[in-house]
Amino acid sequence: MIVFDLLCASGHRFEGWFGSAADFASQRERGLLGCPSCGSARVERVPSATRANLGAEPPKPVQPAQPAKTPDMEGKDPFAIAQMLYSRMLDELLTKTEDVGKEFPAEARKIFYRESPERAIRGQATQEEHDELVDEGIPVARFPVPPKDSLN
Ligand SMILES: [Zn+2]
Repeated sequence: MIVFDLLCASGHRFEGWFGSAADFASQRERGLLGCPSCGSARVERVPSATRANLGAEPPKPVQPAQPAKTPDMEGKDPFAIAQMLYSRMLDELLTKTEDVGKEFPAEARKIFYRESPERAIRGQATQEEHDELVDEGIPVARFPVPPKDSLN
């Protein structure tokens, strides 16, 4: 048996089952075919739309868009990311500050009291020197620096 999509003269679309294409032609010629909606015997075979895709691949589900990732953060654990961000901040600090070494406490004090040009500096200070600067109201910040990035 084969199935044909049929269309009557009034535009009704329906299916007809036949033993063969010749069987369809024979029944049609003898006026045995009739539209189930209106009874019209003027029936034409139309290309099958509903069966044309039989056996075709079902449409693939659309993949959700991947959220954009920062390439160098991909696959790293939070600790590694924190290390990287800290390293970048340190690079920024080192790039934008003048290294005054062990003169830092004195230089910071001079800048604060406008005895030296105002600028961003870095250097070493002992905990005691640091505390003295803070006590005087001089804005300083301490950054723990890994040995390989020594400020010397
Ligand atoms: Zn009809």
